Amino acid sequence: MRVVQAMSIRRKLTLIIMAITSVVLLLACLALAGYDLVTMRRAEPRKLATLADVLAGNSTAALTFGDAQAATEVLSALKAEPHITAACIYTRNGQPFAHYARDRATSPLFPLVPRQDGSYFVDDQLIQFRPIQFAGDSMGTVYIASDLEELHARFRASVVVITLVLLVSSTIAFLLASGLQKLVSEPILELAEIANVVSADKNYGIRAPIRSHDELGILVSRFNEMLGQIQIRDQELQHHREHLEDEVATRTEELRSTNTQLETAKEAAEAANRAKSEFLANMSHEIRTPMNGVLGMTELALDTELTAEQREYLQTVKSSGDALLGLINDILDFSKIESGKLDLDPVDFNLYDSLAETMKALALRAHQNDLELVCEIRPEVPQQVVGDPGRLRQVLVNLVGNAIKFTQKGEVGVRVERVSHLPDEWELKFSVTDTGIGIAAEKQGVIFQAFAQADGSITRNYGGTGLGLAISARLVDLMSGRLWVESVLGKGSTFLFTVRLGISKLETVSSLRADLLHLPLLVVDDNSTNQRILFEMARTWGMEPSVVGSGPAALDLMRQAQELNRGFRLAIIDSQMPGMDGFELAQHIQRNPDLAGATIMMLTSSGQRGDAARCRQLGIAAYLLKPIRKSELLAAILTVLGQESRASAKGLVTRHTIRESRGALRILVAEDNPVNQKVVLRMLQKMGHEPVISGNGREAVGLLAEQPFDLVFMDIQMPEMDGLSATQHIREQEKIDGRHIPIIAMTAHAMEGDRERFLATGMDGYVSKPINRQEIEKALENVPCPEKIPVPATGWNPKDTLERVEGDEKLFLEILTIFLDESPNLIAQMERGLGEQKPELLQRAAHSLRGDLGYLGAPEISQTAHQLEELARKSELRPAAQVFAALREQLAQLTAAIRSNIGASCENIDR
Ligand code: ADP
Repeated sequence: MRVVQAMSIRRKLTLIIMAITSVVLLLACLALAGYDLVTMRRAEPRKLATLADVLAGNSTAALTFGDAQAATEVLSALKAEPHITAACIYTRNGQPFAHYARDRATSPLFPLVPRQDGSYFVDDQLIQFRPIQFAGDSMGTVYIASDLEELHARFRASVVVITLVLLVSSTIAFLLASGLQKLVSEPILELAEIANVVSADKNYGIRAPIRSHDELGILVSRFNEMLGQIQIRDQELQHHREHLEDEVATRTEELRSTNTQLETAKEAAEAANRAKSEFLANMSHEIRTPMNGVLGMTELALDTELTAEQREYLQTVKSSGDALLGLINDILDFSKIESGKLDLDPVDFNLYDSLAETMKALALRAHQNDLELVCEIRPEVPQQVVGDPGRLRQVLVNLVGNAIKFTQKGEVGVRVERVSHLPDEWELKFSVTDTGIGIAAEKQGVIFQAFAQADGSITRNYGGTGLGLAISARLVDLMSGRLWVESVLGKGSTFLFTVRLGISKLETVSSLRADLLHLPLLVVDDNSTNQRILFEMARTWGMEPSVVGSGPAALDLMRQAQELNRGFRLAIIDSQMPGMDGFELAQHIQRNPDLAGATIMMLTSSGQRGDAARCRQLGIAAYLLKPIRKSELLAAILTVLGQESRASAKGLVTRHTIRESRGALRILVAEDNPVNQKVVLRMLQKMGHEPVISGNGREAVGLLAEQPFDLVFMDIQMPEMDGLSATQHIREQEKIDGRHIPIIAMTAHAMEGDRERFLATGMDGYVSKPINRQEIEKALENVPCPEKIPVPATGWNPKDTLERVEGDEKLFLEILTIFLDESPNLIAQMERGLGEQKPELLQRAAHSLRGDLGYLGAPEISQTAHQLEELARKSELRPAAQVFAALREQLAQLTAAIRSNIGASCENIDR
């Protein structure tokens, strides 16, 4: 079937015609032949019966006379009939009488007994029995057998004829079909050909010719109509397309121009944004400088004699000024955060120290509002961490400040806990809880947005910009944490935040002592316990100590280190050693020009007369008595290193100079007896300290919570709260902020076991009444030095700067802060100037930096900046790059020095 389907229409038509013709003809011929054969088959027995009848008539005489010869002769006449194969004549009794066989060898014999009258087809033969009668009397039977050769010959002839007829008629039919099918196939093929051309050339203008008016004609004319319609649509499409191209071109043009406009607008907006940021930075700088003037002068004025009215006015000026400064700082911070310019400045710092500092300042504010400020640091919180203490403090100050602002009575609690210890970070959680006005649930999400306040009317009562939380949230975000609030309106709020802080490599080194990091130190002592103590102390400050047990070993090690170019900056030497003693060793060191660079500190357990003079003579920087306290040693080291870098007049550092260098101590004296009060007060004042008197333990505890003190003299027996309870109270309080103030007991009757009892309560020592100067001095000597001694690590001397601002510590601090804020910008500008080959930019930035440095009083770095400015002015960028590298190095040192100074100065200002 598939073959037929694949045929061309021409073939199909021919095939159809041929098939029909052949089948019809075949059927007709078969019918004719069949009919012929049937007729013949019916005629044959009749013919045989007639022949038998003739034979019967001719054989009656022979039978009557029993003449078999005659009967045989009658039968032999059958030779004329070639298709008769055998014949026989039977007597009346059915006995064969005479017979005949056409071919004796092959012809079959006659049956032995005649059958009844009739003809039968038997074994491809037709046989006939006929009775022989004479005068109505039966004489016998005649039998004839004929082969069917005639019938077969007729059949064969029919097959031949039919075949011939079929062949001839098929040929004629084929010829006719071939001619006639064209009538149908040709128009179709033509149509197909045209459809091909149309689809290949997309030429819808061609038309097929109509050759007849039959169905094919209709098909062609419909096809032509369809082509016409396609042609029209095609033309329309073409038209649209052309139009569309125009349209696209127009639109593209419009888009391009919009893009250009947008680009310009974007650049303008960016420029405006840049300008805004710069403007804000400039403005804040410009505003802050005069504001400092205003605030500083107001404070100075407040220290002078004023009428009550004037004082009130000035206090208002100051508080307004403070508020304005806070606002400016907030806005600047916010704009920095918005423009992504605010980066954290991670350093290694002591979290406990930093929290204590922060809480101290906030506690004052809380107390002014009659609120308790409680701080709890969970013991698992690490002391030393890496992070940005300034920004952490900012967030805490903000949250605690809000808590104080929005709380009328009750308390504000700060709690710090550790959430997790990640591979290289701590995750800490801070919570600030208050018992204030609370925040409605629906406002809790809003307050973290910039300029948002829970209730405008409320805040008018409280003041504020709505920036604090927004800034805090972003800062916390920068510290990889989050800030959220839990609050019940009218009951209070808890603000919580998490931060991630780096794990410090140094366990307890504070950033103030950054100068000691990796500083090579030589410890020379024959006593192994002392060796260990000194080694451990130095290591906790980040120094790199080496320990030897004798003078010669020390000299060897110093030489080796010098050869490796890693000479010791500092040597701590025990004065009494077997063999070569400390002074001898110092002498060797000083005489050897290679080793002379090391600063020597001498330790002694028995101060001898003339030791100090010997030390000065040998150029020894410090002379200290054993056992030395950790804080004392640190203070001494920092002092000698400071002297060294200042290259100023060096003096021998002793525990007295250390004590003097820390200046006046603020001492709280808790004593109820007026005479004793007066005595102690005088003595301390004479020694140059600042004593403050409280009449009982309770008062003392209150004063300590409000103001910073360096030391307490505590009478044991006092009304209201005795010395021991007060001490216990203070120590409890200190567990929260991690501080430890030395407390010296004063007692009239020092009994056996008293000392132990006092120490067990948390006191650090005791003096017995009546008190004398020596005892007080001795007690003071053991007071741990405040560790924060400013270390000038560069050519910069903070004292000079302080003098420049006439001792105004706040202004001093502000200048340092501004410098820290500004210098990275200037460095970045210089870098850009060098990178983009813009000498003007470099010159401008170097000039600004020089200005700032001049104000600070760092002549060496200022000189470098000047050199850079000059090179930039001459467009000599290559040497400028080298000078810039040096400048950057110097600035890094200066920045570190300023940072450590800010820490120390903050404390001073708080006082
Ligand atoms: P400001 O305090 O300057 O208005 P903040 O961003 O610090 O801005 O605070 C936004 C608002 O959140 C405050 O105005 C106040 O309505 C609400 N808020 C913040 N802290 C507290 C708190 N501890 N108790 C009640 N409301 C608070």
